[in-house]
Amino acid sequence: MDFDHSPKTQELCRRLSQFMENHITPRIRGHHDEISAGNFPVSFMEDLKALAKSEGLWNLFLPHLKDDEDGTRLSNLEYAPLAEIMGRVLWASEVFNCSAPDTGNMEVFHMFGTKAQKAQWLAPLLEGEIRSAFAMTEPDVCSSDATNIQTIIRRDGNDYIINGRKWFISNAAHPNCKVMILMGKTDPENDDRHRQQSMIIVPMDTDGVTIERNISIMNHHSPEGHCEILFKDVRVPARNIISGEGDGFMIAQARLGPGRIHHCMRSIGQSELALDLMVERAQERKAFGKYLHQHGAVGEWIARSRMEIDQARLFVLKTADMIDKVGAKGARKEISMIKAIVPHMQTTIADRAMQVFGAMGISPDTPLVDIWTWGRALRYADGPDEVHLRSIARIEISESLEKQGYTLPYLTPPLRP
Ligand SMILES: Cc1cc2nc3c(=O)[nH]c(=O)nc-3n(C[C@H](O)[C@H](O)[C@H](O)COP(=O)(O)OP(=O)(O)OC[C@H]3O[C@@H](n4cnc5c(N)ncnc54)[C@H](O)[C@@H]3O)c2cc1C
Repeated sequence: MDFDHSPKTQELCRRLSQFMENHITPRIRGHHDEISAGNFPVSFMEDLKALAKSEGLWNLFLPHLKDDEDGTRLSNLEYAPLAEIMGRVLWASEVFNCSAPDTGNMEVFHMFGTKAQKAQWLAPLLEGEIRSAFAMTEPDVCSSDATNIQTIIRRDGNDYIINGRKWFISNAAHPNCKVMILMGKTDPENDDRHRQQSMIIVPMDTDGVTIERNISIMNHHSPEGHCEILFKDVRVPARNIISGEGDGFMIAQARLGPGRIHHCMRSIGQSELALDLMVERAQERKAFGKYLHQHGAVGEWIARSRMEIDQARLFVLKTADMIDKVGAKGARKEISMIKAIVPHMQTTIADRAMQVFGAMGISPDTPLVDIWTWGRALRYADGPDEVHLRSIARIEISESLEKQGYTLPYLTPPLRP
């Protein structure tokens, strides 16, 4: 494995870092002030997006763009250091049209959309003209096991009618969010529990779609929203089904793989920023006659954080390389492993940094509280830690049995993460 960044990636990293320094970092305070004043989307977002696009720093996440689609055509391995750079500022990836959940949705449209679906939804998403949401999780069932999903998508002539309730639907309160990809059941009686679900396109302004509330995360209000949404007799044309009835699980598998690694890449950037801040602060202040870093505990936190970040980064790069070579399905164990490791690491490092800052560490005067909160939320989003650990253990056991010459046919279907 060669993880040296190619000259093309190095050049993009240089340009992206410069963009961050010139245009993003100076606006962090302004972004915070506008959001606090209830001004969302912030006034400069569209200008920054136009600038990033004009500089070719656009749609960096999507490897297989067509000739007429705008973007850089990077592999996952090439994208990793760029996502890390963007990740240092929580809102920055939107500027480069690389933010979740749009990225996952664009991948779905790209891989499975019909020509008409692509023209209507993928094209404006790729251009950054609209935003989108992904609606799977439900309040009434354990949604980490997606076979539990209860929302019904019932065929009625040339339409489907959707009834159900979803929550924690990110981005749904964004004024530019125009479309949702919804997962529900078209065939709840199917003996194959992984063929009961389908994905369907629901324009946000369809009758019967009601955003009931924007749920705060750790008491933090996100203006783009993590929303609870009621779907009551929502009627959409049958042509809105994605790929085909019963393909929901298959699409989710393809969608979540890259999405999970993108979160981890950005998490590494956030962890690196927390460590930078910890190191700076430890060199600035003295307690009991010594700089903070000269106290054993703080020195150990710095050392451990450096080791953990470097380990995690190498693992993310290895996983990105595997996705490029064998696809998300072939790399499913590695994707689960990094998803279980990296957000946890982010909260640990942010927590140490907060401690080194003293009381200021939990004030709004550093980004550490946001870094910690987002790391904590990521331990649920795109699958809780325990579900990933379960997948890793099951794959490990089945690989071990295979080596010993056994096969366990009953393990095969549920092994699909
Ligand atoms: C910030 C944020 C944004 C989100 N955005 C979206 C979004 O845009 N769209 C969307 O559809 N969803 C979204 N979610 C929801 C997220 O995907 C779910 O919270 C997650 O899948 C878990 O589902 P659940 O909340 O129903 O927990 P449950 O399924 O009820 O699980 C509860 C707990 O049970 C434990 N558990 C579950 N399975 C196992 C197991 N096998 N072994 C041991 N313990 C287990 C875990 O500790 C888990 O946390 C978001 C969540 C957050 C926090």
